[in-house]
Amino acid sequence: MKLKDIDASKLIDSLEEGVVVHNAKTEIIYANPRALQILRLTLDQAFGKDALDPQWRFVDNEQIPMPPAAYPVNRVLQSQEAVSNIEIGITDSSSERITWVLCNAYPQCNKQGNVEHVIVTFWELATDKYMLPFEAIFANANDVIIITEAVQNNHEAPRIVYVNHAFTTLTGYLPDEVIGKSPNIFQGEDTCQETRARVRQAIINNQPIRECILNYSKSGVPYWLDMNIFPLRNAIGEVTHFAAVERDVTEQKQMEAELREIAAKDQLTDLLNRRGFYDAANKLVGTHPIHSDATIAMIDLDHFKEVNDTYGHECGDKTLKLIAQQLKSSFRETDLICRYGGEEFVVLLPNASLQDSKQKLDAFREHIATKDIVLDDSTQLRITLSIGITHINEKSTSFEHALNLADKALYKAKASGRNCLVIKEDPALS
Ligand code: GH3
Ligand code: MG
Ligand code: MG
Repeated sequence: MKLKDIDASKLIDSLEEGVVVHNAKTEIIYANPRALQILRLTLDQAFGKDALDPQWRFVDNEQIPMPPAAYPVNRVLQSQEAVSNIEIGITDSSSERITWVLCNAYPQCNKQGNVEHVIVTFWELATDKYMLPFEAIFANANDVIIITEAVQNNHEAPRIVYVNHAFTTLTGYLPDEVIGKSPNIFQGEDTCQETRARVRQAIINNQPIRECILNYSKSGVPYWLDMNIFPLRNAIGEVTHFAAVERDVTEQKQMEAELREIAAKDQLTDLLNRRGFYDAANKLVGTHPIHSDATIAMIDLDHFKEVNDTYGHECGDKTLKLIAQQLKSSFRETDLICRYGGEEFVVLLPNASLQDSKQKLDAFREHIATKDIVLDDSTQLRITLSIGITHINEKSTSFEHALNLADKALYKAKASGRNCLVIKEDPALS
């Protein structure tokens, strides 16, 4: 059988797919029975009806009425190109019911290349897909959902149009208190400005973004949110809204902070450990490169092995704790004090000249040397320290190099009989 033997008009009339042919003025010149059924029109009503006819009621997949420019026939006429797989809801003034269709449309041109006809085909979608009560699902979700309008320009703040129950539970704000306002009202003193700027930029660029941000409840309680923000588009691809799906991650953030603190601390003395010291020093004066002045001191307990040997390891531990307490109470809050390892400590004194630091550290050495270390009612001992110091500033080669110099100075202090302080200056600084 050849195609020409087939009665094409009968075939089209029996299709399950709606077929409508428009002329270049968008008037309907043909509609098959399925199209009439889906469009809820009689044959008489359909003929001659154009795309501007006020009886047409199409909605996009967010149930927002479509402007005539978004109708497939007008999009084809405008672009002279086919459009495919557009989901459209068809409705009319007499009923609330929406018929959802998947629509394709393409142009047919004459010999001069002008669009003569636009053929629109549409297939009714299973209605149950659209019958799901999405609003009820949003409303009852455990995650916070906030929908804002898209912004028209860089200065405009997005306005909230929807919040769900989880939002009220978390923030204490009722929907009426926030609708029409900007999500900026949830941000406060400790909200990271860089994060805010990244979110703002993504919204201006109509791009999705995922960020963790600190927000504040109505009563001022801070909470951390893992936010997933994405644009919502209408049928012609314009961004009309942004949705933010947000999860409260405050507990997780607190746990992370606690773990970070544990990882940075020495368990015995509660001082910074080596890793915590490097991180803190990096923030305070920089380590690669160094960006401000400081003195570094390496402090080692003299003959500490003898303390362990004489009084036992537990007393050794207690001595280390007591020395750590003395270090904490003798230096400034801004000085970094670290148990570098074993019975060795490092003190970093930012914004202090080498001479001032030397005086402070030597006074500390003397204080310890003349102080009874009381371990219990019947046990007390004396201990001395050896100290090596050096200075750092922007000219220093590296933080490691400075630590190395302080260590060399300490070695010299040990070799000079212990219970003393030695300075080793970095020739690169002078
Ligand atoms: P020097 O004056 O040359 O520094 O002599 P020292 O005995 O202090 O040095 P050495 O390096 O020979 O020994 C260090 C000792 O510190 C040996 C080790 O048992 C002890 N030590 C290191 N860490 C701890 C600790 O956490 N607790 C106890 N109790 N002792 C420790
Ligand atoms: Mg020692
Ligand atoms: Mg040592």
